Amino acid sequence: MKILVPVKRVVDFNVKVRVKADGSGVELANVKMSMNPFDEIAVEEAIRQKEAGKASEIVVVSIGTAQAAETIRTGLAMGADRGILVKTDAPVEPLAVAKILKKLVEQEQPGLVVLGKQAIDDDANQTGQMLAALLGWGQGTFASKVVIGDGSVEVTREIDGGLQTLSLKLPAIITTDLRLNEPRYASLPNIMKAKKKPLDETTPEALGVDVTPRLKVLKTAEPPARQAGVKVASVAELVGKLKNEAGVL
Ligand code: AMP
Repeated sequence: MKILVPVKRVVDFNVKVRVKADGSGVELANVKMSMNPFDEIAVEEAIRQKEAGKASEIVVVSIGTAQAAETIRTGLAMGADRGILVKTDAPVEPLAVAKILKKLVEQEQPGLVVLGKQAIDDDANQTGQMLAALLGWGQGTFASKVVIGDGSVEVTREIDGGLQTLSLKLPAIITTDLRLNEPRYASLPNIMKAKKKPLDETTPEALGVDVTPRLKVLKTAEPPARQAGVKVASVAELVGKLKNEAGVL
């Protein structure tokens, strides 16, 4: 069984994101970019399934600028077999990503697509669900455990009240949550080997997908600065402030 893993190139999670002076978006020039952390978990999961003999090939795909090839190479260095870059300089919204992935699924015929639950730049949490809807496949979102069986997959999901376990017929869509696994670091020899692994390139146009945005960003702004706190001397003073100043009691 083939596993397809979509990986997004995003601003590294350690970077303090700054809004551009003209409010048109966030600053991306000279900013460290990395693979979306939830996608690292997705790559790791696919590799573990392959190591356990449940998968035969792992294909990583990224939709973005030429530099997204670096993100694919990271996945290949971790242990994926092959990459596909869908090159575009335009911003690509989750619905367009899902439409592109649908085309690639039709070409590649994977048994499983493992995505991150959300990309930490747009925080949309939409692509996996949209892809499942477009394909008419079952979906197990926010996965914290994945057990592949014969023609089905059992997915334990993190939900508000605890854990829920679903059995999905294959092929299926899974999105990863934080506790699914701890991604490995790529070793230097594997980084070198990854340079020789196949990386195909295509475009949204070649796949017949219109990526014209449906949303318009009107303004991007920093969140308001947090007010300084005060120390209170007694419970009575605290209650008084909550009643009279904060108006919450
Ligand atoms: P989102 O719906 O934008 O929060 O993204 C959820 C997941 O969809 C990500 O964790 C990735 O697995 C996948 N994804 C979103 N955008 C892209 C992209 N441009 N290229 C590859 N995968 C993507």
